[in-house]
Amino acid sequence: MNIKPIVKRINLLIWFLLVPAGFFYSLKAYPPHFSGHIPELLAFLLLTCIVSAMPMVINNNPVFISQWVALSVFLNYGLTIEMLFSQIAFIVLLLRLRVGKEGWFRYLINSQMFFVVSFASGIIYYALGGETGIDVLNGPLSFILAATYAVLSYLINQIVLFVYFKFLYKYNEKFFDKSLLWETVTTVITFPIGFVLYTIYREVGISALLFVGIPFASLSIILNLYYSSQNVNEYLQKAAEIGHQLAERVHVNDVIDLFVQKLIEMLPVDFAYVLDVVNREELVLIRRIENGEVKPNDLPPLRKNQGISGIVWSSKKSYLFSAKKEWWHYENGYLPTSVESVMGVPIVRNNEVVGVLILASRKKRAFEKMQLMIVDILCSHFAVAIENAKHYEITKEYSERCPLTKLYNYRYFESMLTAEFTKLHQFERKLLSLIILDIDHFKKVNDTYGHQSGNEILCELARRLEGLTGGRGTVARYGGEEFVILLPDMEKEDAYDTAERIRKTIADMPFTLKEHLGEEKIPLLVNITASIGVAAAPQDADDSLALIRHADRALYVGAKRAGRNRVAEYVK
Ligand code: GH3
Ligand code: MG
Ligand code: MG
Repeated sequence: MNIKPIVKRINLLIWFLLVPAGFFYSLKAYPPHFSGHIPELLAFLLLTCIVSAMPMVINNNPVFISQWVALSVFLNYGLTIEMLFSQIAFIVLLLRLRVGKEGWFRYLINSQMFFVVSFASGIIYYALGGETGIDVLNGPLSFILAATYAVLSYLINQIVLFVYFKFLYKYNEKFFDKSLLWETVTTVITFPIGFVLYTIYREVGISALLFVGIPFASLSIILNLYYSSQNVNEYLQKAAEIGHQLAERVHVNDVIDLFVQKLIEMLPVDFAYVLDVVNREELVLIRRIENGEVKPNDLPPLRKNQGISGIVWSSKKSYLFSAKKEWWHYENGYLPTSVESVMGVPIVRNNEVVGVLILASRKKRAFEKMQLMIVDILCSHFAVAIENAKHYEITKEYSERCPLTKLYNYRYFESMLTAEFTKLHQFERKLLSLIILDIDHFKKVNDTYGHQSGNEILCELARRLEGLTGGRGTVARYGGEEFVILLPDMEKEDAYDTAERIRKTIADMPFTLKEHLGEEKIPLLVNITASIGVAAAPQDADDSLALIRHADRALYVGAKRAGRNRVAEYVK
């Protein structure tokens, strides 16, 4: 969260105007009562510090559960001491959360917020006639007042938090979220402990702190455990859901995109890299996201033990680093210098590392151990989904393409032609032109140079046809040495011109043969020609079969019979 320097300076000024004056006023108006009980006071301070050092962290927000100590400090010693303790409490909390020196502004803001909460609820309590000191809880009215104080300090705390987040951090997310719920629940549970502490302290003195402190510590540990198990459950549920979604994707790229996107949604990730083990030799980058943007995968491949990815690969183990000093000595991989926390997880299939995932954050301690376990589970889902998607793509390729020329095959072409005719009938398409091409005397080429050379010609012709068609149509291998080109939204005359250009490039540019039958294998140049037929829908045909038949007829009657090496269009 970036805050402008001017805002920081204004807040510093507000602090100087507000906090010292408030302390001075409180000291004068409500002098603290501790009449020589310094050890007791110090014991309460110690308890405050211990409780502040055990916050529950919910959704990355610390939930502070020391209000009950604050309540009994307030009732015992008055407003000034409570204000002083709450200032110490937040410092302990921030130190515990390891907010460094660069976070001085957070200290300032928290000081203001804690001050406002203590001061406002204390002043209102006194204004309502509440008292602090010895034996103030001596009747129903004083209990009601003390309870009012408790509720007030809770409410003012929430309001102050809301105002600060809204105006300072421009925090526009849902305010009434899970952490608020948890805070309310823990407050309701712990406030009565504050009353109990106060009352027992009155009866038995300082040992009350132990009687109450130990059960509280247990309660806090139990609440923490409960929360973290809840949290793990939620993560597991999310992981299962993502696993299902990954399994539904059939394309390799979609699987990778979804995987990375979900990880970024789930964890505080600034940088994400997915690497693929290629030929068991090197790690090749297949996805690179930096600050939410997809970057080109143009970083060099990594070897075993090179960078954190290389170590994850060779050791087959996950790694979690909380700060730069833990990983900077490894040989450099891809991580930018601003990175602190890093998570590296192997993507394993059949006991073999098939890839590596690296997630990184600019923050220290951004990832928890539990999250590493979840990412590990997701990586196994990912490995399976990738494998399935690869199979799917290979099978699809196999069923749609001709293995020799890599062009679409007859089957794919037929289904595409049918789909185009549906569009034509639904007026989504106006025109459809079809070119059909057959090599002249191809048997002779095979007989002279061998079948392998014939194949070479078919492949080179396939590339030429693709080049000449560009993005305007689809080229397919229709049969042995016959090719078709489907040209949606192209006029018949334009298709004719295209066919003529194709005919000329075939006739004018010889084809290169390397695998010919000659003794010494020097490349040989061979000239061939082709005959071409053109037809168009709807002018020549109403359905796909008729269109093919008519183009074929133009080819045989108009081009082949008329002497070959020519283009003919269908005429009724
Ligand atoms: P024209 O079309 O000019 O009448 O003569 P042609 O010799 O090309 O005629 P035909 O259709 O009778 O022969 C086609 C030949 O193409 C037969 C076959 O040997 C050859 N052929 C078909 N498929 C392949 C292939 O995949 N590889 C090779 N090398 N030859 C093929
Ligand atoms: Mg033929
Ligand atoms: Mg032929």
